[in-house]
Amino acid sequence: MAETDPRSRRVVVPGVRWLRFPRRLEAEYRDYQCLEAVDSFRVKAFYILFLYMLLVTGIYALAPEAVLGLWLGTYIWVGVIVLAAGVLAQFRALDRYFPLYAGFGSFLAVTLSMAIPGFLDEPESVQLANVSVIYALVIVYAMVGLRFPVATLACWAGGMVGWFIAEHFGRGIDWLMAHRTYTGVSLLGMFLCYTEEVRGRLLFFNQSQLLRQQQRTQRLAERLHRLSREDSLTSLANRRYFDEALDREWRRCQRDKRPLAIMLVDVDRFKAYNDHYGHLQGDECLRALAEELGRYSRRGGDLVARFGGEEFILLYPGVDETEAVRLASRLCRSVRALGIPHADNPTSGEVTISVGVAVKTPADGGTSLQLLDEADRALYQAKQSGRDNWRLYEPPPTVRLVSDNGNRKED
Ligand code: GH3
Ligand code: MG
Ligand code: MG
Repeated sequence: MAETDPRSRRVVVPGVRWLRFPRRLEAEYRDYQCLEAVDSFRVKAFYILFLYMLLVTGIYALAPEAVLGLWLGTYIWVGVIVLAAGVLAQFRALDRYFPLYAGFGSFLAVTLSMAIPGFLDEPESVQLANVSVIYALVIVYAMVGLRFPVATLACWAGGMVGWFIAEHFGRGIDWLMAHRTYTGVSLLGMFLCYTEEVRGRLLFFNQSQLLRQQQRTQRLAERLHRLSREDSLTSLANRRYFDEALDREWRRCQRDKRPLAIMLVDVDRFKAYNDHYGHLQGDECLRALAEELGRYSRRGGDLVARFGGEEFILLYPGVDETEAVRLASRLCRSVRALGIPHADNPTSGEVTISVGVAVKTPADGGTSLQLLDEADRALYQAKQSGRDNWRLYEPPPTVRLVSDNGNRKED
């Protein structure tokens, strides 16, 4: 059996090795890296200061007696720079300028550390000052949190300027010592900084992939949820959503002892419309009607749904018979006012609807299915009486029958 080559499982992420993602991702990474770095520097600045203090107090302990007077004036500056950067980092408004001020501060710190040995007389002092170059470089490369190119630029530019100052204004530089300290530690620092940035970029890439995946899944879930409740042709609620809503509102009205009204709307002679204008035009007509009916959902619990085919249904919790028939009448008028031509509708020549209205107070008994059935019967009556109108379901009058043996029986 062929063994899986572990190398084939390696995922190569573009932009990690060369420290540059494709443009948009790179911009996102820089923002992210800057905020992460400044967040951590807010606290780290004071650790760095503490470390630097350890160094300078160590130097103080080792320094020859003769130069102790110069000690504070020589070493305080890098500490001041770190403190200033630490204070700036506390202001969140300056967060996006972190690479600027931390980069410039690093440049200054390296410049000073590099220049100072050129101004000292005692060979021991020079040696000790060179130790502070190592500290400055390690701090900049490994602790400040600058990106590799910024840290590299700050350290090499700082080194060059410090060297220039020492050469032209001081006693010059001991090159052997400079290479052992500055050059060696610079290369080591660059390596550390580079590997840290590669690690940071990989982490960022994985995180952003995960986040994108999550967002995609969430969008998909929302879309699915919407589709499961929505009618694709009209974008109104679908039958399934209506059934759930009817059940919910029925129980709510039962609890609150309020009436519940429904209206079943059917387009008149729609088969003839399709036959005359074509199915696609029929769809267009249904969309226009749905848009109009959609305006009739006024309050929280109200719902307008496509019931199926060319039938719509409207649900009104808390609406009594008087208000329900007023709404139904307005509904018929609004559809007529749309003026959609319907050549095969003999009564008006335009698209019209018939509406069956039923109102029940759930607390008085019955079921939501009975309510639906009553609306259907009312719709049938509306159709029977010539279409383009509404009918309110009226329970059939109680008929009193007298049986052959004279007993009264109610039907
Ligand atoms: P009535 O006035 O009695 O309601 O007559 P009608 O022609 O509207 O009733 P019928 O039930 O005979 O016809 C309904 C038509 O609705 C038949 C069908 O082709 C059409 N229909 C149902 N769903 C759709 C749809 O999604 N798009 C289109 N274009 N037509 C549809
Ligand atoms: Mg129908
Ligand atoms: Mg119809």
